[in-house]
Amino acid sequence: MNELQLWWLLLLPVFFGVGWVAARIDMRQVVRASSRLPRIYLTGLNHLLHDELDQAIEAFLSAARENPATLELQLALAVLFRRRGEFDRAIRVHQELLAREDLSEERRSEILAELALDYHKAGFFDRAEALYAALQQTERKHWALAQLLEIYQVEKDWRKCIDVATRLARDDSPVWRVRLIHYHCELAALALTAERWDEAGHHLEQARAIERHAVRPILLEGERHFLQGRFEAAFEEWLTLERIAVEHLPLAIDRLMAVAERCGWQAKLLKRMRQWLHRYPQLDLVERYVEFEARHGEPATAMRLLQGLLRQQPSLIVLDEYLLLVARHVDPAWLADVERVREVVHGYVQRLARYRCTQCGFKARRHLWRCPACGQWETFGPARVIEIDAIAGH
Ligand SMILES: [Zn+2]
Repeated sequence: MNELQLWWLLLLPVFFGVGWVAARIDMRQVVRASSRLPRIYLTGLNHLLHDELDQAIEAFLSAARENPATLELQLALAVLFRRRGEFDRAIRVHQELLAREDLSEERRSEILAELALDYHKAGFFDRAEALYAALQQTERKHWALAQLLEIYQVEKDWRKCIDVATRLARDDSPVWRVRLIHYHCELAALALTAERWDEAGHHLEQARAIERHAVRPILLEGERHFLQGRFEAAFEEWLTLERIAVEHLPLAIDRLMAVAERCGWQAKLLKRMRQWLHRYPQLDLVERYVEFEARHGEPATAMRLLQGLLRQQPSLIVLDEYLLLVARHVDPAWLADVERVREVVHGYVQRLARYRCTQCGFKARRHLWRCPACGQWETFGPARVIEIDAIAGH
């Protein structure tokens, strides 16, 4: 094996690191081109392998000027810079490449797309937006629109999100429906905060026109009634979740309790809470139920209910609340012991109970409609979960 081929072997890990662009690179063509590589290229690779990126990039750029056939390698290199967070270097390479006069239209738009991504990832949204807009005239139109949507989501420009998503949603796929529902809900939530009730109602209607039984519009519609003092309507709206998505009731439970107390419907709500618990003994629901039963019902009923739950489906969450009740009724001689045990269990529950993204596993203390880690909508379950392996210390 001669020295030149050996260099390419050394370069292989670089290509594996480059990700999707590498997948588009015709390696045979690159290897063919390697046989024509000038000496300066090897110098550049040498710098790269020694992590001397400044010298490497200079060598590659100078090689590029002398040898136009090395385009693929430089594109890969620039993507590598971008992935390492060295955006200025990626931008420089792409700008230099764009300055060449021998580019086909297809090549030019490919490099423009890469440059747009450099700006996007570097947080220069204005520049990225301008390039994505220019790419609307090319066959990369849909890709560019999808990237624009990402920017508008980060900027929370929900109106533009609706506009772009509507253009992209050519089919009736659930992914687009879910996104559009949330964009309308985001606008509705903003309008509610500003007390623009009709505007909120309008956005919620649009969200519901997409999917009649979507959960978030129901929660917000209840909120709209609640904030305007229409407590019965709010109560009824939230209770529709009983039929549609009982597991989402914990997201409305605080409001339901507030309305029940205000309107004297405590007994009515308690009866329902007991039923819900048998179907979904979730953390928030168990906690609120015990609290509400203690305030407005009979603690003995709560004791019996939790004992039943512990037998049916033992869980740390239920045990935690059960110990709280036991501590209130136990013989004073045992109180200190019970309290100590409860403290341990409660500590675990508080520390480990999290909302969790089902897509990427990101954990959060409060429920989120959009995952900040993977950017997906509605991937958080409506209940906090405790991961048992975390308790075991794995
Ligand atoms: Zn996620």
